[in-house]
Amino acid sequence: MSEKCKQTVKGVGQWGAFKMCQCSFPVWTEHPEDGYCKMHHPVTVEARRDKSQAAWDKKWANRPEVRLVEMTKQRDALYEALGEILSLAVAWAAYYQAVYEAGGTFDPEHKSIIDKAKVALALVEKP
Ligand SMILES: [Zn+2]
Repeated sequence: MSEKCKQTVKGVGQWGAFKMCQCSFPVWTEHPEDGYCKMHHPVTVEARRDKSQAAWDKKWANRPEVRLVEMTKQRDALYEALGEILSLAVAWAAYYQAVYEAGGTFDPEHKSIIDKAKVALALVEKP
């Protein structure tokens, strides 16, 4: 003889919501001590909720607004890192320019590279 699940559920029909009754499914044989059918057992209910939550989280993360916020954060981080790299490069370039100009061996071609780095730095600092 199999016992019935102890979960209370809505009844059937038009007035079912007002006639709560006991679930008619038999107790899940894997966990008979808990007294729930497989559908109403807390383990199954939790797994179903986690699966649903994961699907919702994935759907939420793919929304354009959420992706835009994420991409904006990434862009800001990239600009900050580029700004640090470029300002360091410009500082080193100014140092070497001064050293080589003092020695009379500064290549004018390098000046245009330094100017481009300065332009890039200005762009990165004001996105
Ligand atoms: Zn049940």
